[in-house]
Amino acid sequence: MLNEVLKEYFNRQIRMYEIGEEGIERLRKSHVAVVGVGGLGSFSSLLLALNGVGRLTLIEPDIVELSNLNRQILYYPMDVWLFKAEAAYNRLKRYAPHIDVRAYPVLLTPRTMEMFLRDVDIILDGLDNMSSRYLVNRFSIRHGIPYVFTGVGGFEYNISFIHPPETPCLECFYRNMDDQYVVKYIRERGIINFTVGHAASIQVAEAIKYLIGMSPSLRGRLMIGDLKNLSPEYMDVKRDPECSACASPTYDEFPSKFYGVDTVIIDLEKDIDLDNVIDRIGKDLILVRRGELGVVFSKGKTVIGISRYGTLIIKNAEGYLVDEIMSKILD
Ligand SMILES: [Zn+2]
Repeated sequence: MLNEVLKEYFNRQIRMYEIGEEGIERLRKSHVAVVGVGGLGSFSSLLLALNGVGRLTLIEPDIVELSNLNRQILYYPMDVWLFKAEAAYNRLKRYAPHIDVRAYPVLLTPRTMEMFLRDVDIILDGLDNMSSRYLVNRFSIRHGIPYVFTGVGGFEYNISFIHPPETPCLECFYRNMDDQYVVKYIRERGIINFTVGHAASIQVAEAIKYLIGMSPSLRGRLMIGDLKNLSPEYMDVKRDPECSACASPTYDEFPSKFYGVDTVIIDLEKDIDLDNVIDRIGKDLILVRRGELGVVFSKGKTVIGISRYGTLIIKNAEGYLVDEIMSKILD
């Protein structure tokens, strides 16, 4: 039962015949994961939190940078160089203190997915690369957990509600897309807050419809939108009987490292004592930021972040520095 304060808080949603008190109760019992809390994930997790989703799990290994702030709306200027997971947690707890938020500054790997996402009801895509999406797709097939695929760049966006075996999996219709191309394309295309917010609203609406027992409109359909013309197209996507991911959703080809254009992220697969890290490598580097969940250093143009959960992120890295830091932390 909702108490009087929550009844007042959710008053306008309770009035909606599609939601009502029962819908709010169902959302309060739901557990939703947002993987990737950049632009898309910022908007989506805020909408989910304000709609009273009882438990939110966020996975995001990156740290906040100045160029994020115009669209990654969970982050304030004062959060620059903090791990995004920590800043997102702080913000969401202030917006919605009545919900349970868990934010993990970890790289998405088979290990971290199995550790943190096994009991979620649905996964929302806030990712910026295809290899991580394929990993989420495999996890979704293995555990029968629905996944709202979403990609955004410039004015354009793609969304589909994936829930195999009832629907095709992501790899039935977008197979073997090469991140060398996808990440480079999105980087060159750029990204803007209104497309991100628009796509986030659609993915959250699909998720909430599912959670309250309505039918998601993009089940088995791919929505292809372009805000230059406001006339989205829809494509029916079909299960591919030859799809190897559907037949055998293995994790074999997913490494515990991620190489972006100028970022390397490594899952060290162990918890880290941050004070110990500062002792070990703090002498050679400049300590930029010490948060609850991680610590960030710099050396010249290189930025190095280490999270409590064992994620090492290095931006503008030079090869020797990665090896040097790894050996000092892991010794
Ligand atoms: Zn498939």
